[in-house]
Amino acid sequence: MRQIEALVIGAGPAGLAAADVLSGAGHPVVICDRMPSPARKFLMAGKSGLNLTWDGTVENHVAASGEALRPMLEAFGAEDVVRWAEGLGQPMFTGSTGRVFPVAMKASPLLRAWLARLEARGVTLERRWRWTGFEGAASVFETPGGAVQVEAKVTVLAMGGASWARLGSDGAWAQALRNVAPFQPANMGFRVDWSPHMARVFGQPVKGVAWRAEDQVSRGEVIVSKTGLEGGGIYALSRALRDGAALHVDLKPDWPEGEVARRLVRRGKETWSAVLRKGLRLDPVKAALMREFGGPPEGWSAALVKDLPVRLAGPAPLDEAISVAGGLRFEVLDDRLMLTARPGVFCAGEMLDWEAPTGGYLLTGCLATGRWAGTGAAEWLKARSGTS
Ligand SMILES: Cc1cc2nc3c(=O)[nH]c(=O)nc-3n(C[C@H](O)[C@H](O)[C@H](O)COP(=O)(O)OP(=O)(O)OC[C@H]3O[C@@H](n4cnc5c(N)ncnc54)[C@H](O)[C@@H]3O)c2cc1C
Repeated sequence: MRQIEALVIGAGPAGLAAADVLSGAGHPVVICDRMPSPARKFLMAGKSGLNLTWDGTVENHVAASGEALRPMLEAFGAEDVVRWAEGLGQPMFTGSTGRVFPVAMKASPLLRAWLARLEARGVTLERRWRWTGFEGAASVFETPGGAVQVEAKVTVLAMGGASWARLGSDGAWAQALRNVAPFQPANMGFRVDWSPHMARVFGQPVKGVAWRAEDQVSRGEVIVSKTGLEGGGIYALSRALRDGAALHVDLKPDWPEGEVARRLVRRGKETWSAVLRKGLRLDPVKAALMREFGGPPEGWSAALVKDLPVRLAGPAPLDEAISVAGGLRFEVLDDRLMLTARPGVFCAGEMLDWEAPTGGYLLTGCLATGRWAGTGAAEWLKARSGTS
């Protein structure tokens, strides 16, 4: 049995943020992760531009992420994320849509600087250590050298959600904890049972249209993939679609319906393809969508072009989702994110039962809850050291 002061399980952004606070308060910290290297999902997030936060008020962030995260976001919001990243030598910029990125765009320089700071404070990282649950007061790990038990004065659990398992967060921790709301995909694509003619537009982006789910509209780009629709434009509507809303697309959002009606006319021997291409100026992928979902051309109308129903066959699998809904319920945590049934054990990040759209809200929420849990753990240690 190894006895230590502070144990952090999971070396993603939430766990590293907790370790940052704990080590900053002078506590020796051991981080354990089941993977051979830390923060693999964070590095993956940087592949298409690390969207660390969104340039909005706390109210914007709470509206996106849920009331449960209010205290954490008030303590560590968008401006704090920027200051923190700049403090690690990564200048930041705000894109035209309000998304905030490091100038380097990638996650690796930020992660390197972060890990170096933790190492300089004496934080150690145990790799390939898989947490399998508690035995009495100890955390039990499967390690390359066999089972190891660690008893810590404080523990922060930050094992992520249940998507992209190959990067580490497989959600298996849920078997060892009670009160876990079932995982559901969030910020995910949707499957479509395409007809064979769609094969020639697989991989192509649909740009400049307006996707709608009930009263929510998204102008973002969507890719037509072999299995369905993917990309930011559909992720933005994915929560409503997952919860049963129907998807519609306006193929000519910048044309009034009257203009579409005037152009949707077949002259002489003109083919319907020519009407779509020349009359409506639809590119091949939009024209393919019209053919796929519009029924026989004789029934096409301007109203249909501007509100085409898209038949979805269900969400993409959980493992392919950018994030997950569900996780450890807030009812079993106190206001410091400590498990009320296990004093001294705090929880943070995507393993908690909250969800948010893309746009930097996810990483901001993970950093904010990680710091909050780390602060709670440091206060817990201080209160028990008799120095408070
Ligand atoms: C492709 C992609 C792009 C994304 N882009 C963005 C973006 O631009 N902006 C944004 O805000 N969000 C983005 N996200 C989401 C964001 O990366 C996650 O929400 C965030 O990484 C979650 O942080 P976390 O620390 O809670 O969990 P994770 O990052 O998943 O880290 C959890 C850690 O716990 C470890 N672990 C799991 N189980 C165990 C166990 N039993 N024992 C020991 N260790 C364990 C894992 O190996 C992992 O290292 C993206 C996600 C994906 C997949």
